[in-house]
Amino acid sequence: MKSFQEIYRKSENKIAGIAAAPGIIIGEAYLFTKEKLEISKADIDDIDKSIEDLYEALAKSKKELTKIFTIAREKMDDVRAAIFEAQLMILDDPILLGAITSRIKEEKKQPEYIVDDEISKYQSKMILSHESYMKERALDIEDIKQRIIRNLQKKRWESKIDRNVIVVSESLTPADTVLLSRNKVLAFITDHGGLTSHAAIISRSLNIPAVVGTHNATAKIKDGDKIIVDGFYGYIIKDPTEEQIEFFTQKHNRLVELQKGLEELRDKPAVTKDGKEINIYANVDVTGEIDVVITSGAKGIGLYRSEQVLNETGEFPNEDEQTTIYTKLSSRIYPNSITIRVFDIGGDKFRFLDYQEPNPFLGLRGIRLLLENPALYKTQLRAILKASVNRNIKIMLPMISTLDEIHASKKIFEECKEELKGEKIPFDDDIEMGIMVEVPSVAVMAKDFAMHTDFLSIGTNDLIQYLMAVDRGNDLVSDLYREFHPVVIRTLKYIIDDAKKAKKPLSICGEMAADTLAMPLLIGLGLENLSISAATIPYAKRIIRNCDYKKTKKLADKCLKFTTQKEIEEEIQKFFADNNIIRTRQII
Ligand code: PEP
Ligand code: MG
Repeated sequence: MKSFQEIYRKSENKIAGIAAAPGIIIGEAYLFTKEKLEISKADIDDIDKSIEDLYEALAKSKKELTKIFTIAREKMDDVRAAIFEAQLMILDDPILLGAITSRIKEEKKQPEYIVDDEISKYQSKMILSHESYMKERALDIEDIKQRIIRNLQKKRWESKIDRNVIVVSESLTPADTVLLSRNKVLAFITDHGGLTSHAAIISRSLNIPAVVGTHNATAKIKDGDKIIVDGFYGYIIKDPTEEQIEFFTQKHNRLVELQKGLEELRDKPAVTKDGKEINIYANVDVTGEIDVVITSGAKGIGLYRSEQVLNETGEFPNEDEQTTIYTKLSSRIYPNSITIRVFDIGGDKFRFLDYQEPNPFLGLRGIRLLLENPALYKTQLRAILKASVNRNIKIMLPMISTLDEIHASKKIFEECKEELKGEKIPFDDDIEMGIMVEVPSVAVMAKDFAMHTDFLSIGTNDLIQYLMAVDRGNDLVSDLYREFHPVVIRTLKYIIDDAKKAKKPLSICGEMAADTLAMPLLIGLGLENLSISAATIPYAKRIIRNCDYKKTKKLADKCLKFTTQKEIEEEIQKFFADNNIIRTRQII
Protein backbone atom coordinates (compact mmCIF):
# COMPACT_ATOMS: atom_id res chain seq x y z
CA MET A 1 0.00 0.00 0.00
CA LYS A 2 1.15 3.52 -0.81
CA SER A 3 2.45 5.82 1.92
CA PHE A 4 1.21 9.33 2.69
CA GLN A 5 4.46 10.69 1.30
CA GLU A 6 3.95 8.98 -2.04
CA ILE A 7 0.37 10.16 -2.29
CA TYR A 8 1.33 13.74 -1.46
CA ARG A 9 4.34 13.79 -3.77
CA LYS A 10 2.04 13.09 -6.69
CA SER A 11 -0.87 15.29 -5.60
CA GLU A 12 -1.00 18.61 -7.35
CA ASN A 13 -4.38 19.38 -5.84
CA LYS A 14 -3.08 19.63 -2.28
CA ILE A 15 -3.05 22.68 -0.02
CA ALA A 16 -0.50 22.69 2.78
CA GLY A 17 -1.07 23.99 6.30
CA ILE A 18 -0.28 23.17 9.91
CA ALA A 19 -1.60 19.90 11.35
CA ALA A 20 -3.55 21.29 14.31
CA ALA A 21 -5.84 18.45 15.38
CA PRO A 22 -5.49 14.84 14.19
CA GLY A 23 -7.92 12.85 12.05
CA ILE A 24 -8.90 12.23 8.43
CA ILE A 25 -12.14 13.55 6.99
CA ILE A 26 -13.63 13.38 3.50
CA GLY A 27 -16.51 15.77 2.96
CA GLU A 28 -18.08 18.91 1.58
CA ALA A 29 -16.55 22.36 2.12
CA TYR A 30 -18.55 25.13 3.72
CA LEU A 31 -17.06 28.60 3.41
CA PHE A 32 -17.70 30.42 6.63
CA THR A 33 -17.44 34.16 6.14
CA LYS A 34 -18.46 36.96 8.39
CA GLU A 35 -19.71 40.17 6.89
CA LYS A 36 -16.99 42.82 7.11
CA LEU A 37 -18.39 45.59 9.28
CA GLU A 38 -18.05 49.11 7.88
CA ILE A 39 -17.21 51.57 10.61
CA SER A 40 -18.76 55.01 10.57
CA LYS A 41 -16.75 57.95 11.89
CA ALA A 42 -19.74 60.30 11.65
CA ASP A 43 -20.36 63.01 14.25
CA ILE A 44 -23.14 62.49 16.77
CA ASP A 45 -25.68 64.97 18.14
CA ASP A 46 -27.06 63.13 21.10
CA ILE A 47 -24.23 62.02 23.43
CA ASP A 48 -26.54 60.47 26.03
CA LYS A 49 -28.30 58.36 23.39
CA SER A 50 -24.94 57.15 22.00
CA ILE A 51 -23.74 56.14 25.45
CA GLU A 52 -27.04 54.38 26.02
CA ASP A 53 -26.55 52.52 22.69
CA LEU A 54 -23.03 51.56 23.77
CA TYR A 55 -24.26 50.05 27.05
CA GLU A 56 -27.04 48.22 25.25
CA ALA A 57 -24.50 46.73 22.81
CA LEU A 58 -22.23 45.75 25.70
CA ALA A 59 -25.13 44.05 27.49
CA LYS A 60 -26.09 42.14 24.33
CA SER A 61 -22.47 41.08 23.81
CA LYS A 62 -22.28 39.90 27.39
CA LYS A 63 -25.44 37.84 26.96
CA GLU A 64 -24.08 36.20 23.81
CA LEU A 65 -20.72 35.45 25.39
CA THR A 66 -22.29 34.05 28.54
CA LYS A 67 -24.21 31.61 26.36
CA ILE A 68 -21.00 30.62 24.54
CA PHE A 69 -19.20 30.23 27.88
CA THR A 70 -21.95 27.87 29.09
CA ILE A 71 -21.70 25.73 25.94
CA ALA A 72 -17.90 25.73 26.20
CA ARG A 73 -18.07 24.51 29.79
CA GLU A 74 -20.29 21.63 28.75
CA LYS A 75 -17.97 20.61 25.93
CA MET A 76 -14.52 21.39 27.30
CA ASP A 77 -12.68 21.44 30.58
CA ASP A 78 -12.87 24.57 32.71
CA VAL A 79 -9.36 25.73 31.89
CA ARG A 80 -10.04 25.87 28.16
CA ALA A 81 -13.48 27.38 28.68
CA ALA A 82 -11.86 30.14 30.72
CA ILE A 83 -10.96 31.88 27.43
CA PHE A 84 -14.54 33.11 27.34
CA GLU A 85 -14.54 34.11 30.96
CA ALA A 86 -11.53 36.30 30.13
CA GLN A 87 -13.45 37.85 27.22
CA LEU A 88 -16.38 38.55 29.51
CA MET A 89 -14.04 40.33 31.89
CA ILE A 90 -12.90 42.66 29.11
CA LEU A 91 -16.53 43.71 28.68
CA ASP A 92 -16.53 44.83 32.31
CA ASP A 93 -13.09 46.43 32.31
CA PRO A 94 -13.68 49.84 33.94
CA ILE A 95 -10.51 51.40 32.45
CA LEU A 96 -11.42 50.43 28.91
CA LEU A 97 -15.09 51.39 29.27
CA GLY A 98 -14.12 54.65 30.98
CA ALA A 99 -11.78 55.54 28.11
CA ILE A 100 -14.45 54.75 25.52
CA THR A 101 -17.22 56.75 27.18
CA SER A 102 -15.06 59.78 27.85
CA ARG A 103 -13.86 59.80 24.24
CA ILE A 104 -17.49 59.65 22.98
CA LYS A 105 -18.24 62.68 25.15
CA GLU A 106 -15.15 64.63 24.07
CA GLU A 107 -14.88 63.74 20.40
CA LYS A 108 -18.65 63.43 19.71
CA LYS A 109 -18.06 60.60 17.23
CA GLN A 110 -20.01 57.38 16.61
CA PRO A 111 -19.42 54.86 19.47
CA GLU A 112 -18.49 52.17 16.91
CA TYR A 113 -15.57 54.32 15.74
CA ILE A 114 -14.32 54.94 19.29
CA VAL A 115 -14.72 51.26 20.27
CA ASP A 116 -12.78 50.20 17.17
CA ASP A 117 -10.00 52.72 17.74
CA GLU A 118 -9.63 52.18 21.48
CA ILE A 119 -9.63 48.36 21.39
CA SER A 120 -7.32 48.34 18.33
CA LYS A 121 -4.73 50.20 20.40
CA TYR A 122 -4.55 47.28 22.85
CA GLN A 123 -4.35 44.85 19.99
CA SER A 124 -1.44 46.56 18.26
CA LYS A 125 0.59 46.33 21.43
CA MET A 126 -0.14 42.60 21.65
CA ILE A 127 0.58 41.94 17.99
CA LEU A 128 4.01 43.55 18.37
CA SER A 129 4.82 41.10 21.15
CA HIS A 130 7.45 38.49 20.39
CA GLU A 131 5.37 35.81 22.01
CA SER A 132 3.05 33.82 19.77
CA TYR A 133 0.74 33.42 22.78
CA MET A 134 0.21 37.19 23.00
CA LYS A 135 -0.33 37.44 19.25
CA GLU A 136 -3.04 34.82 19.46
CA ARG A 137 -4.71 36.67 22.34
CA ALA A 138 -4.87 39.75 20.09
CA LEU A 139 -7.21 37.68 17.90
CA ASP A 140 -9.48 36.98 20.86
CA ILE A 141 -9.76 40.70 21.45
CA GLU A 142 -10.67 41.17 17.78
CA ASP A 143 -13.62 38.90 18.48
CA ILE A 144 -14.81 41.08 21.34
CA LYS A 145 -14.34 44.25 19.31
CA GLN A 146 -16.30 42.92 16.32
CA ARG A 147 -19.01 41.63 18.62
CA ILE A 148 -19.56 45.03 20.26
CA ILE A 149 -19.51 46.85 16.90
CA ARG A 150 -21.94 44.35 15.37
CA ASN A 151 -24.29 44.81 18.29
CA LEU A 152 -23.99 48.60 17.97
CA GLN A 153 -25.04 48.18 14.34
CA LYS A 154 -27.80 45.75 15.42
CA LYS A 155 -26.65 43.04 12.99
CA ARG A 156 -26.59 39.27 13.42
CA TRP A 157 -24.02 36.58 12.57
CA GLU A 158 -25.28 33.18 11.51
CA SER A 159 -23.53 30.17 12.91
CA LYS A 160 -26.14 27.53 12.10
CA ILE A 161 -25.28 24.84 9.59
CA ASP A 162 -27.76 22.05 9.01
CA ARG A 163 -25.59 19.44 7.26
CA ASN A 164 -22.27 17.64 7.77
CA VAL A 165 -19.58 19.96 6.44
CA ILE A 166 -15.94 20.94 6.69
CA VAL A 167 -15.75 24.57 7.75
CA VAL A 168 -13.27 26.67 5.76
CA SER A 169 -12.61 30.16 7.06
CA GLU A 170 -10.02 32.93 7.01
CA SER A 171 -9.69 32.63 10.77
CA LEU A 172 -11.86 31.35 13.55
CA THR A 173 -12.30 32.98 16.90
CA PRO A 174 -12.74 30.74 19.94
CA ALA A 175 -16.42 31.70 19.99
CA ASP A 176 -16.88 30.73 16.32
CA THR A 177 -15.17 27.40 16.96
CA VAL A 178 -17.42 26.56 19.89
CA LEU A 179 -20.63 27.73 18.24
CA LEU A 180 -19.86 25.92 15.00
CA SER A 181 -18.99 22.74 16.86
CA ARG A 182 -22.64 22.56 17.98
CA ASN A 183 -23.50 21.96 14.34
CA LYS A 184 -22.46 18.99 12.31
CA VAL A 185 -18.92 20.21 11.69
CA LEU A 186 -16.57 17.45 10.54
CA ALA A 187 -13.33 19.45 10.43
CA PHE A 188 -11.93 22.98 10.46
CA ILE A 189 -9.61 24.67 7.96
CA THR A 190 -8.31 28.21 8.36
CA ASP A 191 -6.06 30.55 6.38
CA HIS A 192 -4.51 32.01 9.52
CA GLY A 193 -3.51 30.75 12.96
CA GLY A 194 -0.85 28.47 14.37
CA LEU A 195 -0.69 25.49 16.70
CA THR A 196 -1.32 27.70 19.70
CA SER A 197 -4.32 29.47 18.17
CA HIS A 198 -7.47 28.89 20.10
CA ALA A 199 -9.16 27.41 17.06
CA ALA A 200 -6.42 24.76 17.16
CA ILE A 201 -6.55 24.25 20.93
CA ILE A 202 -10.33 24.00 20.95
CA SER A 203 -10.39 21.65 17.96
CA ARG A 204 -8.03 19.34 19.82
CA SER A 205 -10.18 19.52 22.96
CA LEU A 206 -13.33 18.79 20.97
CA ASN A 207 -11.62 16.10 18.93
CA ILE A 208 -12.44 17.76 15.61
CA PRO A 209 -9.68 17.39 12.98
CA ALA A 210 -8.17 20.72 11.91
CA VAL A 211 -5.61 22.18 9.52
CA VAL A 212 -4.73 25.83 10.19
CA GLY A 213 -2.38 28.43 8.71
CA THR A 214 -2.98 27.42 5.05
CA HIS A 215 -2.65 31.07 3.90
CA ASN A 216 -5.05 30.67 1.00
CA ALA A 217 -7.54 27.84 1.56
CA THR A 218 -10.49 30.27 1.34
CA ALA A 219 -9.24 31.49 -2.05
CA LYS A 220 -8.72 28.00 -3.43
CA ILE A 221 -11.75 26.19 -2.04
CA LYS A 222 -15.34 26.96 -3.06
CA ASP A 223 -18.55 26.27 -1.21
CA GLY A 224 -19.68 22.71 -1.85
CA ASP A 225 -16.26 21.47 -3.10
CA LYS A 226 -15.41 17.92 -2.18
CA ILE A 227 -12.24 17.93 -0.04
CA ILE A 228 -10.12 15.68 2.13
CA VAL A 229 -8.67 17.00 5.39
CA ASP A 230 -5.61 15.30 6.84
CA GLY A 231 -5.10 16.56 10.38
CA PHE A 232 -2.03 14.33 10.81
CA TYR A 233 0.14 15.80 8.10
CA GLY A 234 -1.59 19.18 7.68
CA TYR A 235 -2.82 18.83 4.09
CA ILE A 236 -6.10 19.40 2.29
CA ILE A 237 -6.86 17.74 -1.01
CA LYS A 238 -9.29 19.60 -3.24
CA ASP A 239 -11.44 17.70 -5.78
CA PRO A 240 -9.80 14.36 -4.92
CA THR A 241 -9.30 11.67 -7.55
CA GLU A 242 -10.84 8.20 -7.17
CA GLU A 243 -7.43 6.88 -6.10
CA GLN A 244 -7.06 9.55 -3.41
CA ILE A 245 -10.58 8.93 -2.09
CA GLU A 246 -9.89 5.24 -1.84
CA PHE A 247 -6.54 5.80 -0.14
CA PHE A 248 -7.94 8.14 2.50
CA THR A 249 -11.09 6.07 3.07
CA GLN A 250 -8.88 3.08 3.87
CA LYS A 251 -6.69 5.19 6.16
CA HIS A 252 -9.74 6.50 7.94
CA ASN A 253 -11.14 3.02 8.49
CA ARG A 254 -7.82 1.74 9.79
CA LEU A 255 -7.62 4.68 12.14
CA VAL A 256 -10.96 3.78 13.67
CA GLU A 257 -9.73 0.19 14.16
CA LEU A 258 -6.43 1.36 15.61
CA GLN A 259 -8.10 3.58 18.16
CA LYS A 260 -10.14 0.65 19.43
CA GLY A 261 -6.90 -1.35 19.83
CA LEU A 262 -5.12 1.43 21.66
CA GLU A 263 -7.80 1.67 24.32
CA GLU A 264 -7.07 -1.92 25.28
CA LEU A 265 -3.44 -1.02 25.96
CA ARG A 266 -4.35 1.45 28.68
CA ASP A 267 -3.96 -0.97 31.57
CA LYS A 268 -1.09 -2.97 30.12
CA PRO A 269 2.52 -2.24 31.12
CA ALA A 270 5.13 -0.91 28.68
CA VAL A 271 7.27 -4.07 28.63
CA THR A 272 9.49 -5.17 25.77
CA LYS A 273 9.07 -8.66 24.32
CA ASP A 274 12.11 -9.83 26.32
CA GLY A 275 10.80 -8.45 29.60
CA LYS A 276 12.38 -5.00 30.06
CA GLU A 277 9.89 -2.63 31.68
CA ILE A 278 9.89 1.04 30.70
CA ASN A 279 8.14 3.50 33.00
CA ILE A 280 5.90 5.94 31.19
CA TYR A 281 4.87 9.20 32.80
CA ALA A 282 2.79 12.07 31.50
CA ASN A 283 3.73 15.67 30.80
CA VAL A 284 1.06 18.07 31.97
CA ASP A 285 0.76 21.60 30.64
CA VAL A 286 -2.64 22.66 31.82
CA THR A 287 -4.44 21.62 34.96
CA GLY A 288 -7.45 20.38 32.97
CA GLU A 289 -5.40 17.64 31.33
CA ILE A 290 -5.25 15.63 34.55
CA ASP A 291 -8.35 13.60 33.61
CA VAL A 292 -6.69 12.43 30.41
CA VAL A 293 -3.56 11.54 32.39
CA ILE A 294 -5.52 9.44 34.86
CA THR A 295 -7.19 7.47 32.09
CA SER A 296 -4.03 7.16 29.98
CA GLY A 297 -2.33 4.53 32.11
CA ALA A 298 0.61 6.83 33.04
CA LYS A 299 2.64 5.94 36.13
CA GLY A 300 2.44 9.54 37.30
CA ILE A 301 3.26 13.03 36.10
CA GLY A 302 6.89 13.28 35.03
CA LEU A 303 6.75 16.99 34.17
CA TYR A 304 4.23 19.56 35.33
CA ARG A 305 5.08 22.85 33.59
CA SER A 306 3.91 25.09 36.41
CA GLU A 307 4.48 28.29 34.38
CA GLN A 308 1.46 27.41 32.27
CA VAL A 309 -0.73 28.60 35.11
CA LEU A 310 0.72 32.07 34.52
CA ASN A 311 -0.16 31.91 30.84
CA GLU A 312 -3.70 30.90 31.66
CA THR A 313 -4.34 33.43 34.37
CA GLY A 314 -1.90 36.15 33.21
CA GLU A 315 -0.60 36.70 36.75
CA PHE A 316 1.26 35.04 39.61
CA PRO A 317 -1.07 33.15 41.92
CA ASN A 318 -0.31 33.89 45.57
CA GLU A 319 0.98 31.24 48.01
CA ASP A 320 -2.47 30.00 49.01
CA GLU A 321 -3.69 29.84 45.43
CA GLN A 322 -0.61 27.92 44.39
CA THR A 323 -0.96 25.56 47.36
CA THR A 324 -4.52 24.82 46.23
CA ILE A 325 -3.41 24.11 42.64
CA TYR A 326 -0.58 21.79 43.68
CA THR A 327 -2.67 20.05 46.35
CA LYS A 328 -5.43 19.33 43.86
CA LEU A 329 -3.02 17.96 41.28
CA SER A 330 -1.10 15.79 43.71
CA SER A 331 -4.28 14.43 45.29
CA ARG A 332 -5.78 13.52 41.95
CA ILE A 333 -2.68 11.65 40.82
CA TYR A 334 -2.17 9.93 44.21
CA PRO A 335 -0.79 7.28 44.91
CA ASN A 336 1.33 8.06 41.85
CA SER A 337 3.69 10.98 42.01
CA ILE A 338 3.92 14.37 40.34
CA THR A 339 7.12 16.22 39.46
CA ILE A 340 6.42 19.93 39.68
CA ARG A 341 8.87 21.99 37.70
CA VAL A 342 9.26 25.43 39.24
CA PHE A 343 8.37 28.38 36.99
CA ASP A 344 10.36 28.23 33.76
CA ILE A 345 9.75 31.87 32.87
CA GLY A 346 11.63 33.76 30.17
CA GLY A 347 12.74 32.56 26.73
CA ASP A 348 9.57 32.37 24.65
CA LYS A 349 7.40 31.81 27.73
CA PHE A 350 5.51 34.21 30.00
CA ARG A 351 7.16 37.64 29.93
CA PHE A 352 8.15 38.79 33.41
CA LEU A 353 10.42 41.72 32.67
CA ASP A 354 9.34 44.97 30.99
CA TYR A 355 12.74 45.00 29.35
CA GLN A 356 12.98 43.05 26.10
CA GLU A 357 16.14 40.96 26.24
CA PRO A 358 18.10 40.80 22.97
CA ASN A 359 18.57 37.02 23.35
CA PRO A 360 15.82 35.79 25.68
CA PHE A 361 16.72 32.10 25.27
CA LEU A 362 20.22 32.90 26.51
CA GLY A 363 19.02 35.35 29.10
CA LEU A 364 17.26 35.52 32.40
CA ARG A 365 15.24 32.34 32.07
CA GLY A 366 14.12 29.53 34.41
CA ILE A 367 16.24 29.12 37.52
CA ARG A 368 18.24 32.29 36.73
CA LEU A 369 15.15 34.44 36.95
CA LEU A 370 13.93 32.70 40.11
CA LEU A 371 17.23 33.20 41.90
CA GLU A 372 17.13 36.88 40.94
CA ASN A 373 13.65 37.08 42.46
CA PRO A 374 13.90 35.09 45.70
CA ALA A 375 10.52 36.26 47.02
CA LEU A 376 8.76 34.80 43.98
CA TYR A 377 10.84 31.62 44.21
CA LYS A 378 10.15 31.21 47.92
CA THR A 379 6.41 31.65 47.44
CA GLN A 380 6.37 28.79 44.98
CA LEU A 381 8.63 26.52 47.05
CA ARG A 382 6.56 27.15 50.19
CA ALA A 383 3.36 26.38 48.28
CA ILE A 384 4.82 23.14 46.91
CA LEU A 385 6.01 22.12 50.39
CA LYS A 386 2.61 22.87 51.91
CA ALA A 387 1.00 20.68 49.23
CA SER A 388 3.46 17.82 49.82
CA VAL A 389 1.85 16.16 52.86
CA ASN A 390 0.84 13.09 50.84
CA ARG A 391 4.52 12.58 50.02
CA ASN A 392 3.97 12.20 46.30
CA ILE A 393 5.50 15.47 45.04
CA LYS A 394 8.97 16.02 43.58
CA ILE A 395 10.50 19.34 42.62
CA MET A 396 12.41 19.99 39.43
CA LEU A 397 14.59 22.98 38.51
CA PRO A 398 14.61 24.26 34.90
CA MET A 399 17.47 25.77 32.90
CA ILE A 400 20.18 24.78 35.36
CA SER A 401 23.61 25.59 33.91
CA THR A 402 25.92 25.75 36.96
CA LEU A 403 26.33 23.86 40.22
CA ASP A 404 26.03 27.15 42.09
CA GLU A 405 22.40 27.39 41.00
CA ILE A 406 21.70 24.05 42.68
CA HIS A 407 23.46 25.14 45.88
CA ALA A 408 21.62 28.48 45.95
CA SER A 409 18.28 26.73 45.35
CA LYS A 410 18.93 24.28 48.17
CA LYS A 411 19.74 27.15 50.51
CA ILE A 412 16.46 28.93 49.75
CA PHE A 413 14.63 25.62 50.01
CA GLU A 414 16.09 24.97 53.48
CA GLU A 415 14.99 28.46 54.55
CA CYS A 416 11.44 27.68 53.40
CA LYS A 417 11.45 24.42 55.34
CA GLU A 418 12.70 26.14 58.49
CA GLU A 419 9.99 28.79 58.17
CA LEU A 420 7.26 26.19 57.81
CA LYS A 421 8.58 24.24 60.77
CA GLY A 422 8.45 27.48 62.79
CA GLU A 423 4.87 28.01 61.65
CA LYS A 424 4.05 24.39 62.54
CA ILE A 425 2.88 23.66 59.00
CA PRO A 426 3.37 20.01 58.01
CA PHE A 427 5.23 19.01 54.82
CA ASP A 428 7.26 16.16 53.37
CA ASP A 429 10.76 16.67 54.76
CA ASP A 430 12.18 14.05 52.35
CA ILE A 431 10.84 15.72 49.24
CA GLU A 432 13.23 15.18 46.31
CA MET A 433 14.72 17.97 44.27
CA GLY A 434 16.01 17.22 40.77
CA ILE A 435 17.16 19.15 37.74
CA MET A 436 16.43 19.42 34.04
CA VAL A 437 19.37 18.53 31.82
CA GLU A 438 18.76 20.96 29.01
CA VAL A 439 21.88 23.10 28.83
CA PRO A 440 25.07 21.59 27.33
CA SER A 441 27.16 22.60 30.35
CA VAL A 442 25.15 20.18 32.50
CA ALA A 443 25.44 17.42 29.90
CA VAL A 444 29.23 17.77 29.87
CA MET A 445 29.46 17.50 33.67
CA ALA A 446 26.38 15.32 34.14
CA LYS A 447 27.98 13.08 36.79
CA ASP A 448 29.01 16.04 38.95
CA PHE A 449 25.57 17.59 38.67
CA ALA A 450 23.96 14.23 39.40
CA MET A 451 25.97 13.93 42.64
CA HIS A 452 24.35 17.13 43.91
CA THR A 453 20.76 16.38 43.03
CA ASP A 454 18.16 13.66 43.63
CA PHE A 455 17.27 12.99 40.00
CA LEU A 456 17.76 14.25 36.45
CA SER A 457 15.41 14.73 33.53
CA ILE A 458 16.60 15.41 29.99
CA GLY A 459 14.75 18.25 28.26
CA THR A 460 15.59 17.60 24.63
CA ASN A 461 13.56 20.58 23.37
CA ASP A 462 16.09 22.96 24.83
CA LEU A 463 19.09 20.66 24.85
CA ILE A 464 18.88 20.34 21.06
CA GLN A 465 18.46 24.07 20.54
CA TYR A 466 21.47 24.86 22.70
CA LEU A 467 23.62 22.04 21.30
CA MET A 468 22.88 22.95 17.69
CA ALA A 469 22.63 26.74 18.25
CA VAL A 470 19.14 26.72 16.70
CA ASP A 471 16.26 28.76 18.11
CA ARG A 472 13.56 26.12 18.63
CA GLY A 473 10.81 28.50 17.47
CA ASN A 474 12.49 30.04 14.43
CA ASP A 475 11.12 28.75 11.09
CA LEU A 476 14.14 30.05 9.17
CA VAL A 477 16.50 27.60 10.83
CA SER A 478 14.09 24.78 11.66
CA ASP A 479 15.94 22.48 9.23
CA LEU A 480 18.93 22.59 11.54
CA TYR A 481 16.92 21.56 14.61
CA ARG A 482 17.65 17.85 14.42
CA GLU A 483 16.64 15.23 16.95
CA PHE A 484 18.59 12.51 15.24
CA HIS A 485 21.80 14.41 14.77
CA PRO A 486 24.73 12.25 15.97
CA VAL A 487 25.69 15.06 18.36
CA VAL A 488 22.31 14.72 20.09
CA ILE A 489 22.43 10.93 20.26
CA ARG A 490 25.97 10.87 21.63
CA THR A 491 25.15 13.55 24.19
CA LEU A 492 22.15 11.54 25.39
CA LYS A 493 24.35 8.48 25.78
CA TYR A 494 26.90 10.49 27.74
CA ILE A 495 24.24 11.78 30.15
CA ILE A 496 22.72 8.30 30.57
CA ASP A 497 26.10 6.77 31.42
CA ASP A 498 26.95 9.57 33.85
CA ALA A 499 23.62 9.28 35.68
CA LYS A 500 24.23 5.54 36.05
CA LYS A 501 27.72 6.16 37.43
CA ALA A 502 26.25 8.55 40.00
CA LYS A 503 23.42 6.04 40.69
CA LYS A 504 20.77 8.72 40.21
CA PRO A 505 17.40 8.21 38.48
CA LEU A 506 17.17 9.71 35.01
CA SER A 507 14.19 10.38 32.76
CA ILE A 508 13.57 12.19 29.50
CA CYS A 509 10.71 14.65 29.12
CA GLY A 510 11.34 16.58 25.88
CA GLU A 511 9.21 16.06 22.77
CA MET A 512 11.78 13.63 21.39
CA ALA A 513 10.58 11.08 23.94
CA ALA A 514 7.12 11.22 22.35
CA ASP A 515 8.43 10.71 18.83
CA THR A 516 7.52 7.12 18.02
CA LEU A 517 10.46 6.94 15.62
CA ALA A 518 12.91 7.76 18.43
CA MET A 519 11.48 5.30 20.93
CA PRO A 520 13.52 2.12 20.18
CA LEU A 521 16.70 4.18 20.02
CA LEU A 522 16.03 5.90 23.37
CA ILE A 523 15.33 2.57 25.04
CA GLY A 524 18.42 1.03 23.47
CA LEU A 525 20.53 3.93 24.74
CA GLY A 526 19.42 2.97 28.25
CA LEU A 527 16.57 5.32 29.12
CA GLU A 528 14.07 3.62 31.40
CA ASN A 529 11.74 6.52 32.23
CA LEU A 530 9.91 8.49 29.56
CA SER A 531 7.61 11.42 30.23
CA ILE A 532 5.37 12.24 27.27
CA SER A 533 2.01 13.84 26.53
CA ALA A 534 -0.86 11.70 27.77
CA ALA A 535 -2.33 11.31 24.29
CA THR A 536 0.85 9.62 23.02
CA ILE A 537 1.10 7.06 25.83
CA PRO A 538 -0.87 4.25 24.16
CA TYR A 539 1.17 4.68 20.95
CA ALA A 540 4.41 4.51 22.92
CA LYS A 541 3.25 1.39 24.73
CA ARG A 542 2.38 -0.31 21.49
CA ILE A 543 5.86 0.26 20.10
CA ILE A 544 7.66 -0.77 23.28
CA ARG A 545 5.59 -3.95 23.59
CA ASN A 546 6.65 -4.88 20.05
CA CYS A 547 10.37 -4.26 20.60
CA ASP A 548 13.09 -6.61 21.73
CA TYR A 549 15.31 -4.82 24.27
CA LYS A 550 18.42 -6.66 23.10
CA LYS A 551 17.79 -5.52 19.55
CA THR A 552 17.23 -1.90 20.60
CA LYS A 553 20.63 -1.98 22.30
CA LYS A 554 22.25 -3.15 19.06
CA LEU A 555 20.41 -0.40 17.21
CA ALA A 556 21.75 2.19 19.64
CA ASP A 557 25.32 0.84 19.37
CA LYS A 558 25.17 1.17 15.60
CA CYS A 559 23.63 4.66 15.69
CA LEU A 560 26.32 5.89 18.08
CA LYS A 561 28.93 5.20 15.40
CA PHE A 562 27.24 7.13 12.58
CA THR A 563 28.29 10.66 11.73
CA THR A 564 25.17 11.86 9.91
CA GLN A 565 21.52 12.22 10.81
CA LYS A 566 20.52 10.47 7.56
CA GLU A 567 22.36 7.26 8.48
CA ILE A 568 20.76 7.23 11.93
CA GLU A 569 17.25 7.76 10.60
CA GLU A 570 17.68 5.10 7.94
CA GLU A 571 18.95 2.62 10.52
CA ILE A 572 15.91 3.27 12.72
CA GLN A 573 13.52 2.92 9.76
CA LYS A 574 15.25 -0.37 8.95
CA PHE A 575 14.76 -1.48 12.56
CA PHE A 576 11.02 -0.86 12.28
CA ALA A 577 10.82 -2.69 8.94
CA ASP A 578 13.01 -5.68 10.00
CA ASN A 579 11.03 -6.16 13.20
CA ASN A 580 7.67 -5.64 11.59
CA ILE A 581 6.76 -2.83 13.95
CA ILE A 582 4.20 -0.44 12.59
CA ARG A 583 4.40 3.22 13.57
CA THR A 584 1.18 5.17 13.96
CA ARG A 585 1.70 7.50 11.05
CA GLN A 586 2.33 4.56 8.77
CA ILE A 587 -0.67 2.52 9.78
CA ILE A 588 -3.32 5.17 9.42
C1 PEP B 1 12.55 20.70 27.25
O1 PEP B 1 13.24 21.71 27.13
O2 PEP B 1 12.74 19.65 26.63
C2 PEP B 1 11.40 20.71 28.17
C3 PEP B 1 10.75 19.59 28.49
O3 PEP B 1 11.00 21.88 28.69
P1 PEP B 1 10.21 23.02 27.89
O4 PEP B 1 9.77 22.43 26.58
O5 PEP B 1 9.09 23.41 28.78
O6 PEP B 1 11.25 24.08 27.73
MG1 MG C 1 13.09 23.32 28.51
